[in-house]
Amino acid sequence: VKQHGRNAWRAYEERLEAGAHRRLQLETHLAGALERGEFSVHYQPIVDLVSGRTRSLEALLRWSSPELGTVSPAEFVPVLEQRSLIVKVGAWVLREALRRVGEWHAAGHDVTVSVNVSSLQFQHGDFVELVRCALRDTGVSGSALVLELTESALIADADEGNATLCALRTLGARVSLDDFGTGYSSLSYLHRLSVDKLKIDKSFVQILPGDCAFMEVIMRLTSHLRLECVAEGVESEAQRETLLQLGCPFGQGFLFSRPLPADMILAFLDDIRIP
Ligand code: C2E
Ligand code: CA
Ligand code: CA
Ligand code: CA
Repeated sequence: VKQHGRNAWRAYEERLEAGAHRRLQLETHLAGALERGEFSVHYQPIVDLVSGRTRSLEALLRWSSPELGTVSPAEFVPVLEQRSLIVKVGAWVLREALRRVGEWHAAGHDVTVSVNVSSLQFQHGDFVELVRCALRDTGVSGSALVLELTESALIADADEGNATLCALRTLGARVSLDDFGTGYSSLSYLHRLSVDKLKIDKSFVQILPGDCAFMEVIMRLTSHLRLECVAEGVESEAQRETLLQLGCPFGQGFLFSRPLPADMILAFLDDIRIP
């Protein structure tokens, strides 16, 4: 037993060390990555579940490091957040996404773009001003912009959060509460937040068509609060059908498309269909 304990401890230490090493490696290579042009933005369609038509495109950050290769945002975004780099990188994503949606509008496509905003960015002094300038400089109407926020951004200071939300709304932008259902206090504060949409976390979508109980509650809630509902992580036809039966009008997931580079989206917009 003693020997076993020692080995387990050793393995734990090694994992810890490997984790710390990886983190340091990420930090090192993320510094200056924006200036070196290592980031890009991919786009994933958010579709009308009945017609299959794309109504919005979610902008998803991608990092290709010459040294580390492609790293998942699930791994590097938290590092950007810890180093406050997300403020600068997030501002770049916003401009890049607005520039693209401007191009799609010019090509005759009526779509909006959905941009992820981290808590740090949202709470950063001049977020509203940043959005206002990005809209002005790209010439895109605020109504073409959806900002995806998680509850951690909004509950840190609900009053100030709401003030920012109102200011964003005067710009025409709309706000979607991302990863809904995964936080702690979703239900208790939801009625106090002026958000426009809910994005149901994929963990609740991926148990469909099996367990519908949670989705049923959410759908009742969203219709009561008059919130638009988007299901993420839709991977199967059975899930799409179940969501429609439950009254969820919009979805996003591999069933429709993976996130794609911008130049592949234009072709996609022309003939999007339910697979
Ligand atoms: P998220 O905002 O919840 O984005 C949805 C994630 O689900 C994306 O992962 C997307 O590729 C993935 N996904 C889409 N459809 C499916 C599906 O059918 N099945 C499964 N299993 N997954 C699906 P991705 O691109 O790896 O991004 C991970 C997270 O990184 C995002 O989660 C978001 O929290 C963060 N992130 C990405 N880009 C940005 C950004 O520009 N700014 C900030 N602050 N965070 C970002
Ligand atoms: Ca999102
Ligand atoms: Ca999400
Ligand atoms: Ca997420």
